Amino acid sequence: MSTANGNRSDNCAKGFDAIIGQQRQIHMLAAALQKNEVPHAMLFTGEAGVGKKTTAINFSKACNCERPMPLAGGAAFSGRLNPCGTCRPCRKIDSFSHPDFHYIKPPGATIRIEQIRALCSALALRPNEASLRIVVISDAHLLNAEAGNALLKILEEPPDKTVMILTAPEAADLLPTIVSRCRHFRFNPIPEDRLEAYLIETRGIPGEKAMVIASLAGGSIGRALSMEGDTSIMDLRRRVIEWMEILFKNPSGNDLYFSEAIAADKITLGLSLDIMKSWVRDLAIAKHTPEKIYNRDYRERLLALSEQADPDGLIEKADAVWQAERALKTNANPRLAVEAMVMKFSG
Ligand SMILES: [Zn+2]
Repeated sequence: MSTANGNRSDNCAKGFDAIIGQQRQIHMLAAALQKNEVPHAMLFTGEAGVGKKTTAINFSKACNCERPMPLAGGAAFSGRLNPCGTCRPCRKIDSFSHPDFHYIKPPGATIRIEQIRALCSALALRPNEASLRIVVISDAHLLNAEAGNALLKILEEPPDKTVMILTAPEAADLLPTIVSRCRHFRFNPIPEDRLEAYLIETRGIPGEKAMVIASLAGGSIGRALSMEGDTSIMDLRRRVIEWMEILFKNPSGNDLYFSEAIAADKITLGLSLDIMKSWVRDLAIAKHTPEKIYNRDYRERLLALSEQADPDGLIEKADAVWQAERALKTNANPRLAVEAMVMKFSG
């Protein structure tokens, strides 16, 4: 059902059903819940914004919901495994005020030992009201060494009726001794077409903008939603793609102008790099798999350019964007990072 502002009503999907692109993981969790075989510890890995935290919170609710509902598309499940979102335990978990739901995240660059000590003390007591007590440790790769070792002790002797859920980008980011004690669930990037359909149908975003956001979000719904309200995104994309086309056709003389223009706005710099990555990727695949082009409105221009593109050169250019992105994450000087990248484009 559509609301007055054109957005689809949120009532159409609840609990797990509102999470897109992670049905396999959700069904595995539902199966564990139905069989009453929930692991003591689970590790959810995947890029930021693909649904790890939302799934962990919904799982916590599913374990404690007073009025669970059937899971959409979960015909294989006989039980009511989908949290209602409105009963008392569901609402308390949603507001992080449930006494048996512990949510830990890094207050700064790391998760500190004090946070894990406080958790230890809380877990030493019996659960207050929950049938299953849940601990979610978000960004567990940011546990400092001391906190990681303290957590390991909890995992080695798991308290009764308690489930630990850790989230991290990759298992390799955690102590192997922690990983080996967890059941691992991989959350994949959400396919572009699913993301685009979600943005149009559920968020009411116009088709062209939905296509652009889906092409830039890297399979992350969190990133897509952070771009939703950005009114300059279409204009920025048009400008960056035009610059790329100029640089590609006629590199000499334009590189300095381009570096200055792209590095000048620190707020949009990351987005500009995403636009470049998406465009270079399209150029690389245009010739052989044109149906997979993300930037569909530039399809004809990409196809024409791909005729003169050297595949090795494109790999180098894509790599240059990745390198600039990595350099910026480690607080490199934006102007220098962009100049190094553009030099590879014009070389
Ligand atoms: Zn509920």
